Amino acid sequence: MENRSEIFDVIVVGAGIMGSSTAYQTAKRGKKTLLLEQFDFLHHRGSSHGESRTIRVTYPEEYYPKMVLESEKLWEEAEAEVGYKVYFKTSQFDLGPSDNKSLQATISSCQKNRIPVRVLDHNQVYEELSGKFQLTEDWIGVVTEHGGVIKPTKAVSLFQTLAIKNGASLRDNMEVVDIKKDDSEDAILVCTRNDQRFWGKICIVTVGAWMKRLVEKVTGLTLPIQPLETAVHYWKIKEGHEAQFMIDSGFPTFASYGEPYIYGTPSLEFPGLLKIAVHGGHPCEPDERTWAASPSALTALKEWIQSKFGDLIDSSGPVVRQSCMYSMTPDEDFVIDFLDGEFGKDVLVAGGFSGHGFKMGPVVGRILADLAIEKQAKYVDLKHFSIKRFEGNSKGNAKDFDDQVNSVG
Ligand SMILES: Cc1cc2nc3c(=O)[nH]c(=O)nc-3n(C[C@H](O)[C@H](O)[C@H](O)COP(=O)(O)OP(=O)(O)OC[C@H]3O[C@@H](n4cnc5c(N)ncnc54)[C@H](O)[C@@H]3O)c2cc1C
Repeated sequence: MENRSEIFDVIVVGAGIMGSSTAYQTAKRGKKTLLLEQFDFLHHRGSSHGESRTIRVTYPEEYYPKMVLESEKLWEEAEAEVGYKVYFKTSQFDLGPSDNKSLQATISSCQKNRIPVRVLDHNQVYEELSGKFQLTEDWIGVVTEHGGVIKPTKAVSLFQTLAIKNGASLRDNMEVVDIKKDDSEDAILVCTRNDQRFWGKICIVTVGAWMKRLVEKVTGLTLPIQPLETAVHYWKIKEGHEAQFMIDSGFPTFASYGEPYIYGTPSLEFPGLLKIAVHGGHPCEPDERTWAASPSALTALKEWIQSKFGDLIDSSGPVVRQSCMYSMTPDEDFVIDFLDGEFGKDVLVAGGFSGHGFKMGPVVGRILADLAIEKQAKYVDLKHFSIKRFEGNSKGNAKDFDDQVNSVG
């Protein structure tokens, strides 16, 4: 398929949610786009597969809510363009000890972003959620209306479909092993393990948990992006209570602050089951995973479910488990930047989505297309996502609240 006269405007490497939404965005703007994926499309070995991801605006960092609001719009626009739904709305319910710094920062971040937020004490929570969440008196609940569930595999497929519809070429089973400057063609040369070569004016690398390895190989630069192996668990709702936990009956997406941070989604994809999981995982090599459940995460989940849902959910053990990977940065902020060095503004990287990137897929795709085509992002300040933030400072962005992700669970 090597064709030296064919130079793509944009080559996107990695077809998870970030690469797929980026390919859609660049193709839609008339750019000749190629999307390359190392495995089969819609595989389950990365981070973007499965049945549900939470979308919420509640972030302790003040710079994320605006991005989520923009992403909400873009999710809806993409749904309208393709003609089916991937995004199911409900409210978001955050809970935790009233003195938890992250939860307090989340409340003030909503207020600063003018997002209506209601703070409830434990009695109000009991009333508002009809006794489903049982909090002790030192805990509070925080309700916002911008919550919901996105179906990940279906959403990746949506963006791949729209990318093709807008003229992009998509190739799977193409593992990229090198990216280099080809001065003779004034282009970036992208080489695959099966000896294919592709030329592009711009290359955008969105390879998830493989980012550190590929960038190190291509430039020698070590990005602090650590793959973590994690899992989601589904728990059985006790007989007779199933309807109360369904998204259609208004049950929210939720997150419980503290150690460990636990999150969940309403009953939707598997009737009678609720997804409840620990936000965290153990360090791994992306191609050498254990696929095993973490015993400490399971113990924490059982205790949490028993204390918060009492007899409504069977806390003896999960009935479904799905394995997945996070790409963690030390500050849990994304990396979205030009690689610079010999590549200047011709190679972009977007990774380190740290277990909370899915909801941002459409807005990240738009940002990357802006950077690729216009060399700057509109309406968003990318300083928190720069590679430079780690220079001489391995921790990255300073935060005055606790880490949310448990990196051993
Ligand atoms: C269990 C779990 C729960 C989560 N929950 C939420 C949530 O509720 N809300 C939320 O917003 N986010 C959530 N996330 C995070 C979100 O899913 C990720 O941030 C997002 O999917 C990352 O997408 P990505 O495109 O960067 O990576 P990936 O989906 O991994 O895509 C990268 C792609 O690049 C390919 N690739 C790698 N190397 C190469 C190469 N050399 N050549 C070609 N292709 C290559 C890979 O095969 C892969 O397909 C969760 C993640 C997990 C694991």
